[in-house]
Amino acid sequence: MSWIKSENLSIISGIVHGFSNRGFKGGLEEAASYFGLSRIFTLNQIHSSNVFVIKDGFRQESEQKGDAIVTSLKDMGIGVFTADCQPILFVDRTASVVAAVHAGWRGTLSQITKTALLEIEKNFGIEPSSVYVVLGPSIGRCCYEVGEDVASLFMNKFDNWKSYLLKKNDSKYILDLKEANRIALVEEGVKDIEIINICTKCDSGFHSYRRDGKGVGKQLSFVGLV
Ligand SMILES: [Zn+2]
Repeated sequence: MSWIKSENLSIISGIVHGFSNRGFKGGLEEAASYFGLSRIFTLNQIHSSNVFVIKDGFRQESEQKGDAIVTSLKDMGIGVFTADCQPILFVDRTASVVAAVHAGWRGTLSQITKTALLEIEKNFGIEPSSVYVVLGPSIGRCCYEVGEDVASLFMNKFDNWKSYLLKKNDSKYILDLKEANRIALVEEGVKDIEIINICTKCDSGFHSYRRDGKGVGKQLSFVGLV
């Protein structure tokens, strides 16, 4: 399989990262050892805005629920699974903290990227302006239709919804997940945002829930300090 790399993250020393395509078969241990990590930690993802922070003394007792992970620990990757949703990786300029976020429409609506940035600042004293962010392969604006029910949640909560929500017809809207998350990051003060422009539904090299339906496989997106 091949891993898609961020141009910006590739030139930062002290981290490893990657966004898988459908060639990833779920082997976390294999992926970890390939990148020289002891493990890749993931969560039981529940489309929430829960951010799980891992610091010194961390011992995993049971499976944790949430949709974002922040850590300063070296040697351990952190990852999220997606199949159309938006994977987002964070690393600060000095490569001392990393984060991985899973944002579908629910996570985007609940501003999970904002919560992740707040946790990074609260726990590690790093401001959003010092964080690089990469938005990985996700369903594009070419393909992501949502109903009035979902669209109205964004319209009622955000003033800027017209920047990423387009009316298609009487009952359908196009939601641009990448743009919605990009704008949210800019509003929090992030200056360096890279977008990997791959639509998981258009590109058959990726798993897509919208294209393949229930039981679809998942891409892994991960980052780790080494
Ligand atoms: Zn598409």
